[in-house]
Amino acid sequence: MTQESEQNQLPRHMEEKAVSTPESEVGSKTDNDKVESVETPEAQERVIECITNLINQRIGDAFKVYDDYIKLGTPKKFVDCIKEIWPENNGSPYSGNLRLYLPKLPIPEDIAKNFSIRFTVKPDDYENHASLDSGGVLSIGINEESTSQDAKITERLIKMHVYHEIEHIYFPGPNADFLDLSDAKDALKYVSDPGEIRAFAKGYAYLFKTKFPGEAFSQEKMSEAINEVGYRDWFATFSDSEKRKKYLELCGVDIFDINDQLIGLTSGFIGNIA
Ligand SMILES: [Zn+2]
Repeated sequence: MTQESEQNQLPRHMEEKAVSTPESEVGSKTDNDKVESVETPEAQERVIECITNLINQRIGDAFKVYDDYIKLGTPKKFVDCIKEIWPENNGSPYSGNLRLYLPKLPIPEDIAKNFSIRFTVKPDDYENHASLDSGGVLSIGINEESTSQDAKITERLIKMHVYHEIEHIYFPGPNADFLDLSDAKDALKYVSDPGEIRAFAKGYAYLFKTKFPGEAFSQEKMSEAINEVGYRDWFATFSDSEKRKKYLELCGVDIFDINDQLIGLTSGFIGNIA
């Protein structure tokens, strides 16, 4: 995929604003195995799990390398550690940003051939920045300053974004290009979209499982896990009585219902995440 084609594609999902970064070259991609079509929900779940695990394992490995360099007294930037553990890295040197392709995987060719991961260094909105565009580019914001302050938290946040975004392969969210997220109605339309609720639930389930392994869902503990990584707590928003009144008047939507959906999905995912 060329830079031009990527720019011409509308993002089918954006967490927040995208960060556009000039990219001068894209390397060749790896061959990928063909597999059976992915039509059943079970097969889709397997694909999602496979891609998520692959990416997050590499990210975990990169953080180990990052730790090792600190212990050796020769700290390196996190993105440089990613390059070390990701041999499929195309090596593009552009502006400190990095694009990686998935190696051979038992995943459908239509996903595998285009899928790549871009780590964007120092985006202007690190905390909320992750997106999956229609061309199969997963963008993840990396803030080197946050990384050095608390690598474990940063690692958890990045992995949560991966869980969220990979879920969107089969459960896309709304196209944020046509929504004004600073408008209360549009923002609600965005976060209450079924694909979005599901993707948030998946990311939240990962946070919960990591913080409270083996425990059943509780909203209190969930909020603790979310607050620890400094992410957005939609459970708190959707269970707020004042906000409930406001949204009922504004758009006739009961956000308590959305909270119930979010809790149901998150609870289910907690049991399934390895
Ligand atoms: Zn999303």
